[in-house]
Amino acid sequence: MQFSAADYGGSRALRLWGHLAADLLCGVIVTMIALRFYPPPPTTALTVSAALVAFVLMCWVAMRRHDRGLCEHCVAALPLDAAERAARCRFRFRVVHAGSEARLAVPYLATLVLVNFAPGEWGRLLWVVVQLTLIYALRCAVAHRRLQPWCPWCSGGGDKDRAGTDPLPDHRQLV
Ligand SMILES: [Zn+2]
Ligand SMILES: [Zn+2]
Repeated sequence: MQFSAADYGGSRALRLWGHLAADLLCGVIVTMIALRFYPPPPTTALTVSAALVAFVLMCWVAMRRHDRGLCEHCVAALPLDAAERAARCRFRFRVVHAGSEARLAVPYLATLVLVNFAPGEWGRLLWVVVQLTLIYALRCAVAHRRLQPWCPWCSGGGDKDRAGTDPLPDHRQLV
């Protein structure tokens, strides 16, 4: 299958950045956790924080752009046993779809913010745990993106279980 820049947009490097954006964001989260325990000198703290925020925003934009278009890297990485893998990813698919519901997403985002103010060592530990849930959410999003044609919630609200079946014979698109 051939892809042109117009199918996806941007240069090859930007497309690859979008494909890897979720992994890069996981790296940022790990870096943030490390900086919480080993903070940089006060003279560079603001610069480091600003650089991380800017990098997160650029990764987020690249990831959204990636998710809206065709990606040759995703297609090339599609496993032969995609249906079986999708059947094992039902919980991750469910997490992704739950995250798109405001009644769950808003409290989660509020928790991400409020946990920054949790005092003491237990508060810091709680902060780390909440940050790690972000990594899991990103991994869920990556799994869902790659196996979306087999996601039961994308094709009938979850009541019609498509996991374990091959959707390609009925001419569904990969994205
Ligand atoms: Zn991709
Ligand atoms: Zn889905």
